[in-house]
Amino acid sequence: MNQTTMRRTLIAGNWKMNGSVAANAVLLEGIRSGAGGLAADLTVCVPSPYLAQAQSALSGSVVAWGGQDLSLHASGAYTGEVSGAMLRDFGCQFVIVGHSERRSLHGETDAIVAGKALQALACGLTPIVCVGETLEEREAGHTDSVVSRQLKAVLDVLGQQLGKIVVAYEPVWAIGTGKTATPEMAQQVHAQLRRLLVGADAVAGSGVRLLYGGSMKPDNARDLLAMADIDGGLIGGASLKAEDFLAIARSA
Ligand code: PEP
Repeated sequence: MNQTTMRRTLIAGNWKMNGSVAANAVLLEGIRSGAGGLAADLTVCVPSPYLAQAQSALSGSVVAWGGQDLSLHASGAYTGEVSGAMLRDFGCQFVIVGHSERRSLHGETDAIVAGKALQALACGLTPIVCVGETLEEREAGHTDSVVSRQLKAVLDVLGQQLGKIVVAYEPVWAIGTGKTATPEMAQQVHAQLRRLLVGADAVAGSGVRLLYGGSMKPDNARDLLAMADIDGGLIGGASLKAEDFLAIARSA
């Protein structure tokens, strides 16, 4: 819980394209059995083929589960895509949208990300909307303008639904690289994102949880999570080991 604002900490795992039925069984059981009594909410965003496994392993526990992406479309001739309704069918609560890997490897534009956030909400899912700058953009002094543009594209379409999203700041240069933004660097960007959220709607915007993502690990989580506008983490690599994922959650 963020003591000044009462935003409950959210620790979300992004497994990316990792896992197997056998490995997931161990990981899910480890997370489930260690998740009781935590001060943070927990969720794991798993590859689509493993949603049924996550649902069966985590049902009745305090751990939620979700997808890593969803289609912009509700249904139809979109071979290979997974709809928001399908994610809901498997009990998902969350879905990541606009992860930098989707933006860079799959050409997802701000408009597509905004459309996916709306689609998620229409299906009763909470979108975890990712924003973040590349190293070149940071070095050119464009961090604020890049993340503001990315977030505004989503805010512009949300209307009254602003309070229903989660935002994750993930500097691209810190994802999977072992380089973490310092707590102060991350807080500076989170404060800018908070200003935008509150500017769009003072009450709803101050309640939106802002996660940090980018090489968050047990040994740096406490300092990051202590910052005023860091309300949780989106965890890649360290979410693949139950004890690391839980250690991060215990730092909250
Ligand atoms: C991510 O992919 O969302 C992420 C934050 O990865 P990592 O923790 O491995 O940097």
